[in-house]
Amino acid sequence: MIRKLRDDYKIADESVLTAMDSVPRDFFVPTALKSQAYRDNALPISANQTISQPYIVAKMTELLELKPSDRVLEVGAGSGYQSAVLAKLVSAVFAIERIPALAAEANERLRALGIANVSVNCADGTNGWEMYAPFDKILVAAGGPEVPRPLLDQLKVGGKLVIPIGADQKSQSLVRVTRTPNRFVNEEFGPCSFVPLIGAHGWK
Ligand code: SAM
Repeated sequence: MIRKLRDDYKIADESVLTAMDSVPRDFFVPTALKSQAYRDNALPISANQTISQPYIVAKMTELLELKPSDRVLEVGAGSGYQSAVLAKLVSAVFAIERIPALAAEANERLRALGIANVSVNCADGTNGWEMYAPFDKILVAAGGPEVPRPLLDQLKVGGKLVIPIGADQKSQSLVRVTRTPNRFVNEEFGPCSFVPLIGAHGWK
């Protein structure tokens, strides 16, 4: 999986590849799918949700240009796999998941792996997490119609936010937003397909 990310997908940030190499993806997928854990596919998890494709995890993580001191907000924790990868690279991860069973399972997996710098909350992540804001980086792992305003407000100046954005719920474009002192700069990184971001500032 790591060789494919480096050679075929041209993921160049070795710290991202090292972090992904150190997290056992098979621990985050259902028992019946463990044999497929290191293929480059999204896979179903509980509650009709998915664990993202390894390439997308690598790409979104790389686009955040993480620093060890960063505090990161993650919206859509799902299985907890992306949270675990982020946890290897930054000082603190604040992960929100709207489905209670998934939030509980993600928390259990992270504890079982001894990962102590991730806080998991069950809530609508389109509202951000005001108590711990502002964040250096924000990663949204579900597709919304636009960037939720609270997330822009909770991003530090100089910070970066990565999110799939699309006018319909089936396909999106991967967007990176950088907050400068006086505006938000958007860049696009190609098509992608995520489950919908459902919430007050997402799909209803
Ligand atoms: N990155 C995750 C992983 O590694 O397993 C996969 C995330 S999955 C593609 C998207 C997740 O976003 C789903 O678990 C879904 O329940 C969650 N989600 C959707 N809307 C949300 C919201 N408003 N707040 C928090 N989580 C949300």
